[in-house]
Amino acid sequence: MLRIIWAAILAMAPLLPAHAVDVRGIRLWAGPDSTRVVLDLSGSAQHSLQVLKNPDRVVLDVLGARLAGSAAAAPPAAAGAVKQVRVARQPSGAVRIVLDLARPIQAKSFLASPNDRYGYRLVIDLGVPASVETPVKPEHAPPDARDLIIAIDAGHGGEDPGAIGKNGTREKDVVLAIARELAQQINAEPGMKSVLTRSGDYFVPLRDRMRRARAQQADLFVSIHADSIRDRRVDGSSVYILSQRGATDEASRWLAERENASDLIGGVSLDDKDDVLASVLLDLSQSASLRASEVAAERVLHQLNRVGEIRKPQVQQARFMVLKSPDIPSMLVETAYISNPQEEQRLRAQPHQAKLAAAIHQGVHDYFYANPPAGTRVAQLAAGAAPRPVLATAGGSGE
Ligand SMILES: [Zn+2]
Repeated sequence: MLRIIWAAILAMAPLLPAHAVDVRGIRLWAGPDSTRVVLDLSGSAQHSLQVLKNPDRVVLDVLGARLAGSAAAAPPAAAGAVKQVRVARQPSGAVRIVLDLARPIQAKSFLASPNDRYGYRLVIDLGVPASVETPVKPEHAPPDARDLIIAIDAGHGGEDPGAIGKNGTREKDVVLAIARELAQQINAEPGMKSVLTRSGDYFVPLRDRMRRARAQQADLFVSIHADSIRDRRVDGSSVYILSQRGATDEASRWLAERENASDLIGGVSLDDKDDVLASVLLDLSQSASLRASEVAAERVLHQLNRVGEIRKPQVQQARFMVLKSPDIPSMLVETAYISNPQEEQRLRAQPHQAKLAAAIHQGVHDYFYANPPAGTRVAQLAAGAAPRPVLATAGGSGE
């Protein structure tokens, strides 16, 4: 019954008032391999998307719409793959947005439902899927002893600001600053190299963050965040690893998708294995990663405890998507509560950002010197083949 009424409403859509929805704003976010265009809408809307050639462009029609707010004033400036944005109202009552492109590109669009920060949004993602399925050998690693690769993931970005403090500090900005600082510190240490999953103010989908880490054959994945809670008195750092439940869910997904995935687990392809063997291999890899994640996370938590307050004395477990790589030990560091005004202020301060980064760095360093992967320069250094590097101190109250 409901379905019949709905079908009838859809059929009547062209007869609805010519501007059922307002396009209130158009925002562009450019990353190194993708560009996201976000339209802020006053309500749900139907749309069509076409990718055209000669010249390369994307044409988006929002049906029964009109331009309002900043969208009516001027189109946004070019960014990323988008050379020019043109906006016009069509005689049909649609708002047409043409994105002139610098090169041929794939496009997909979806309508995002309101959340606590934004109303309805129409999102257009432009980009070439990164060819990350073939792992690349890090160039800087000599064949005899390679560098450890630490993937550093600054949470959020682009149109996703993350948590926002009372004084307007955005999580995406402070975590990027801490991530950059951590990357620098790690790069300065012999035997270690960092890779950032995002290096600017743009959004990277969660699975892409994992894929980037795997493409670089990361030995460890560290996601940096700042927490938020209604009670502004709550403060302190927390460190999370993936829960067993999250690992189990992810294992089912990997097994289900292995037919069309050329992914490897610890250098072994799953796609030619029978179900039982594939699930055993996956389980072994996941258990080892989870154990390593926990040990590494404990080291980091211990160091954060020396810099300031920690929220809970144990490593926490949760089903965070970015922690789900089955073969890369992964942790998520909630550096502080941005919702706490004192911590918000500290998070903004460069010296404190450097202190947090140094604590995470020291924890990562301690973990790898206690558990050096074979064939790495750190394994040689840990065995006393050369003097160990001395790190800049994380500071804090000491032990
Ligand atoms: Zn976050």
